[in-house]
Amino acid sequence: MKILVMNAGSSSQKSCLYEISGETLPESPPAPLWEAQIDWTHQQNVAEMKIKTLQGTVLKQEVPFASRDPVIAQMLETLWTGDTQVIAAPSDIDLVGHRVVHGGHKYRDSTWITPEVKAEIADLATLAPVHNPVNLQGIESIEQMLSTIRQVAVFDTAFHARMPDAMALYPVPYEWSEKGIRRYGFHGTSHRYCAQRAAQILGQPLKDLRIVTCHLGNGCSLAAVRNGYSVNTTMGFTPLDGLMMGNRSGAVDPSILIYLMREAGYTADELDHTLNQESGLLGVSGVSNDLRLVMQAIAAGNSRAQLALEMYIQRLRQFIGSMIASLGGLDVLVFTAGVGENAPHIRAGACEAFAYMGLQVDPEKNASSPRDQDIATANSTVRVLVIHTQEDWAIAKECWELAQTTSPDR
Ligand code: ADP
Repeated sequence: MKILVMNAGSSSQKSCLYEISGETLPESPPAPLWEAQIDWTHQQNVAEMKIKTLQGTVLKQEVPFASRDPVIAQMLETLWTGDTQVIAAPSDIDLVGHRVVHGGHKYRDSTWITPEVKAEIADLATLAPVHNPVNLQGIESIEQMLSTIRQVAVFDTAFHARMPDAMALYPVPYEWSEKGIRRYGFHGTSHRYCAQRAAQILGQPLKDLRIVTCHLGNGCSLAAVRNGYSVNTTMGFTPLDGLMMGNRSGAVDPSILIYLMREAGYTADELDHTLNQESGLLGVSGVSNDLRLVMQAIAAGNSRAQLALEMYIQRLRQFIGSMIASLGGLDVLVFTAGVGENAPHIRAGACEAFAYMGLQVDPEKNASSPRDQDIATANSTVRVLVIHTQEDWAIAKECWELAQTTSPDR
């Protein structure tokens, strides 16, 4: 089965083609047959397109554009034409899986795309104004190009949609909750993948494990996983909540915003921009949202960079603690994404706080940042894994699993 994955963001479009042959999923994630990336914002009105095939062919193009659809069409054509061709015709693609950021409270699992599902993705754009419209645009581009193909929506929120109300609601007037003001959580595809992969690596049933997954990229969130589902997470109504991130503040006292609006004349848009773009590692250090540059500044003696790092680790510990409390204990701690996979000092700093419960990281294993391996000592009470998150493969996997059990209503 050939599955095309479409992962559309505000500034980029990533796509992959996976082939899954046989009756079962492969043990480890396979490499895609074809990978494409379009950067929409690096140059004004010029899309930078890069295609790579499993055989090693690389194609780079700069395409002037007024609308995204023709560029996406051009990208898809490289699947069946030219040097990067990997299939004979568009009809060789069996399924298309789309990452959709917001599925609201309703979508607990991936779903076949129907006109109703599309209408709901459009309605949910009020909750995810940057992402849902581009996700929908991706779905419609495929409909226009490959009209008969079956499509699947894989929601970032779905993995958290079973959180009990006692965890998901805010302690505000109940009518607000009825209007959809609740915690949704994000990065769900990555958290789900890492929890499943952790169980696979440890050779234990997922349902028996209490897992905290730490997705630490530019955006950061944790999930508390029990019985294979998220029962708590750090992001909330929006991806601004919870941990300190690259550019985002994470949780702050909401009265700060009220104070700044009343006393300093800030507008809602200014606060939105400051908390989402100019805060976190960047805001505190004044150096960068990129941890690597913050570390370089620390090495050069920059004390605000040092403060930013300490705050990052403190908040990480604090929220890991709250996830452990939601699970009533911990069997596995997983680190993933750019920071989680590559920053040994962040992992060590976070884990140090849980030595009291017998969690012990092997310093040598930790320092080598191994991929998909256990870095805990043999006698640690908690397994600590570094897992390379593979969101695109996770989307392909979700599509394959859905196709094994159901077929779309036509
Ligand atoms: P995104 O959330 O944009 O998908 P990634 O998961 O790719 O982000 O993570 C990006 C971040 O990972 C960078 O901003 C950087 O801070 C961090 N990072 C990547 N490699 C390293 C490294 N070797 N050491 C420390 N941090 C790293």
